[in-house]
Amino acid sequence: MKTLGKYSIGLGDRFGHQGGAQLKAIIEASKKGIEITPVWNKSNREHTTIGTLPGDVRIEADKVTTNAGFKKAYFVDADHINIDTVDRFIESSDFFTIDVASYIGKKAEEKEISEFVSGTKKYIGNFRIPGTKLSFNISESQIKQIAEKYLFASIKAFDIYRKIEKVKMKNNFITEVSMDEVPQPQTPVELFFILKMLASENIPLQTIAPKFSGRFNKGVDYVGDPLKFAEEFESDLLMIDFAVKEFGLPDNLKMSIHSGSDKFAIYSHIGSIIKKHDKGIHLKTAGTTWIEEVIGLAESNGEALDFVKEIYFKSLEKIDELCAPYSDVIDIKISSLPSRSEVLKWDSKKFAGSIRHIPGNKDYNDNMRQLIHVAYKLAALKMDHYYQLLDANEEIVSQCVYENIYNRHICRLFSIE
Ligand SMILES: [Zn+2]
Repeated sequence: MKTLGKYSIGLGDRFGHQGGAQLKAIIEASKKGIEITPVWNKSNREHTTIGTLPGDVRIEADKVTTNAGFKKAYFVDADHINIDTVDRFIESSDFFTIDVASYIGKKAEEKEISEFVSGTKKYIGNFRIPGTKLSFNISESQIKQIAEKYLFASIKAFDIYRKIEKVKMKNNFITEVSMDEVPQPQTPVELFFILKMLASENIPLQTIAPKFSGRFNKGVDYVGDPLKFAEEFESDLLMIDFAVKEFGLPDNLKMSIHSGSDKFAIYSHIGSIIKKHDKGIHLKTAGTTWIEEVIGLAESNGEALDFVKEIYFKSLEKIDELCAPYSDVIDIKISSLPSRSEVLKWDSKKFAGSIRHIPGNKDYNDNMRQLIHVAYKLAALKMDHYYQLLDANEEIVSQCVYENIYNRHICRLFSIE
């Protein structure tokens, strides 16, 4: 059976140039005693926007691991696929993030719902999680509500899973189910019953991505109360642990945190809670690497700085169009965005400092950073020139990518000094 390591990181590399720098961060962590499985993920939306194919991610992952002599496991994740988009990912991927968000809230058949409810009678009343302080009062109508909201989605997850399994054969790939791209977070009790649904559909689930409370905006810090998050995260973790034993799910089933990049305010909590309970984690960091490319080009000065300034100016013009697909996962205060005339005067240090995520740096502007995050489409429109600049300034750019993943993410999450 293909199994994901205890710790794994989802690495997004939209333009396919930074796999080597990202892998270097993984190798450095290993030298410090933290083994992390690299997973290169790219969604259908990103492929469509940039004009790449799922097979390109496989080629890159194979190439950078071979070049580095990396002999450990690594994966290529078909990120956020559904029944309509999965096909072209099947051959080249060995990790599938089955996205059921769009099915949540659609009702399964009455008979399926009542069957599910009658199979959960033993949890009605005072429901305690053995070995923990967690206890909940659960009513039959509550379970029915949960089934009405999530059962159809779990049946759909199974349909998608079967489609993949038919081609790849059982146990030859990692299965994740994601429910993060919805407005409402799932409670620990909901998570427990969702896991029961997925288990009864016989899905060999290795990671699950719930939606947590607070805002997980792309490329910037967590917005919400970190202590509340910690409590919720720990409850979810204990629920998963109990569900694994109760429903016979894979032993290594773990939490996946989407839009996980840059959530510096909660990393120490995640790190200490998984350590306390000896659990694994999958952290998706996706689009943050593209921002590092922009920072690296800004630092390279000259033509490269002019290019990224031009991307920013264009993004101001096209802000509505660029932000629309990401409206649930960004919060940009337009009045705090620097104007074209201001930025025209900026030197390379000022531009890089404005979008590099160093909390406390007076130049840092998380509104501008979020806008750049969604502006990758504009670089894709000038692909040849963009690639030429990435190649010409490879050393600076790859150093930015490496430092971001290693220093700001891995070291914080795993408390590497
Ligand atoms: Zn996601």
